[in-house]
Amino acid sequence: MEFLILIIILVFYGISYYFKKRIVPKIKGSIGEYKVASKLKRLNKKEYLVLNDILLKNGDLTTQIDHIVISKSGIFVIETKNYKGWIHGHQNSEYWTQTIYKHKSKLRNPIKQNWVHVLAIKKTLSEYNYIKYFPIVVFAGDGKLKNVTTTLPVVYNNKLIRTIKNLNEQESLSYSQMELISDKLLKSNITDRKVSKSHSLQVKKQIRERNKKEKQKICPKCGNKLIKKRGKYGKFYGCYNFPKCRYTINIK
Ligand SMILES: [Zn+2]
Repeated sequence: MEFLILIIILVFYGISYYFKKRIVPKIKGSIGEYKVASKLKRLNKKEYLVLNDILLKNGDLTTQIDHIVISKSGIFVIETKNYKGWIHGHQNSEYWTQTIYKHKSKLRNPIKQNWVHVLAIKKTLSEYNYIKYFPIVVFAGDGKLKNVTTTLPVVYNNKLIRTIKNLNEQESLSYSQMELISDKLLKSNITDRKVSKSHSLQVKKQIRERNKKEKQKICPKCGNKLIKKRGKYGKFYGCYNFPKCRYTINIK
């Protein structure tokens, strides 16, 4: 009987652990994306074409883009984050910090993540090399942006529409060009489930390999040594190959 109770307790812990680690982040992500998508619905359909959740090929890898908005002045590439707590970070660092009370955790710099998305779209739309790109990071949760130093827009969801409209100044695309671009992106969108599954496996593998290298103090980007440095914002590890390679890790 006691043995049975023990088994039940273990199974219960197993399930709740899995739920916290795997299911909750996914749900949070989807809620953030849903919130942003519903905001983007307010944009005038005659001036803006909105695509949500696009998966593009990027070399051997694939990359998932939360939202793409095509306008007369160019393409807005939007990365959505749904975080609580206080968010700190710089435009060029690898990681940002989330603080909840005294608990700190790190997140991948969303500006850099979004940059990869911009490059993937550029590659897909290589015949339109005159397009201007506007990357935007949106925080759709309760998180407060406390010390985010960047020249690119990192905004709350309620400022998103205003940010897009302010940047949509110069006309460089006609409506029919916008439609062609939208068609091209939708045609390139990978909808096959198997591919998306292998995408998430790839991402996990990449993260594991990067963490391993960081532990060994090897730059995951170029393979040089990571060395301790001191900068404006305190101590950090930077690549030996600086300024050719700008990989950094914060020291907590
Ligand atoms: Zn490096």
